[in-house]
Amino acid sequence: MSLWNPLDPKVTEILNKAQDMAGINQEEAVCLLRLELCSPESYAVMAVANRMSRQSFGGKGERHFHIGLNVEGCSFNCKFCSLTKAAGIFQDSEEFSREQLLAWGKQGEQQGADALNLMTTGRYPFERLLEVGAWLSKEISVPLVANTRDINHQEGEALLAHGFQGFYHAVRLREGVDTPFPVEKRINTIKVITDVGLKWANCIEPVGPEHQPEEIARLMLLAREMGATYSGVMRRINFPGSPLGHHGMINELEMARMVAVSRLVMGDVAKAHCTHEPNTAALMAGANLFFPEVGSSPRDAQSDTGKGRGKDLMACAAIMREMGLDPSLPSNCFGATRTAPNQSEHCPSSYHGLP
Ligand code: SF4
Repeated sequence: MSLWNPLDPKVTEILNKAQDMAGINQEEAVCLLRLELCSPESYAVMAVANRMSRQSFGGKGERHFHIGLNVEGCSFNCKFCSLTKAAGIFQDSEEFSREQLLAWGKQGEQQGADALNLMTTGRYPFERLLEVGAWLSKEISVPLVANTRDINHQEGEALLAHGFQGFYHAVRLREGVDTPFPVEKRINTIKVITDVGLKWANCIEPVGPEHQPEEIARLMLLAREMGATYSGVMRRINFPGSPLGHHGMINELEMARMVAVSRLVMGDVAKAHCTHEPNTAALMAGANLFFPEVGSSPRDAQSDTGKGRGKDLMACAAIMREMGLDPSLPSNCFGATRTAPNQSEHCPSSYHGLP
């Protein structure tokens, strides 16, 4: 096939619609998720998503620093999580000390993190999370994002009063099947988050080869409809003994294509677009947000993922710079969204139906 053959007309039509930032629908997203991975059409999807993000986010590279507050064998036993009783990796409960959390927070501040995402396991006491938010927000000027269990309105208000500005919460793929949580409960928490005025952070996760385009697309559409501040894609990482390990894992190129489709779905709603774990390919497909990590992680068998799988802030910044994104610009997620006209030098023309 000649490189210059016209793209599939249906794909061209979807891309023309997408680059107007109006979002695409379920059927269109499924069509793009089904494209052959290395086809010119797939690369055109990634090119359009890349251009949309560089224009609308003004070349900003966001780094939201994940700090896992505790490890335990969590009895909720979500099948994709290493911090479960069933996985048997973490026999003892352990909380990172105030000194350690402060050191990580200061590190985030000094190295230019755009947010601190404080993650807990499912049974971590909510009051303790509030306490950490209260003192950490006095010590550190970086916005705090909570990542914890489902909450009600009163708890949402309490998070705001204790220094949090955002809340990460996802309806996970196969929620209620691979987890014990009903989808409705997760959606209700998202309503609480937006009702009380916390910024809702989301990701399509944790994607594995077993997930079908329809279920992936449905969650992408949910993120747009419910107004996520950002909603990219994270793949499932299999840990030793992972109950879902027999499915294997998707590779970074497959994830980048999903990142791109998700970017097209989000249109003008997104303030940033995430991917996890940090990788280069997704930065050519519309992602501009990485999560450097320390403390506990549901993807790691190390209690401090900073000594395991987690990438640090400076490593994430270096990848972003190599891909023409600037981590030193102000965050779009916690301030006014900027666009930088000079990004056109990185993306000189709009999409005109050429591969
Ligand atoms: S994902 Fe959260 S709730 Fe589920 S097992 Fe892991 S720590 Fe517990």
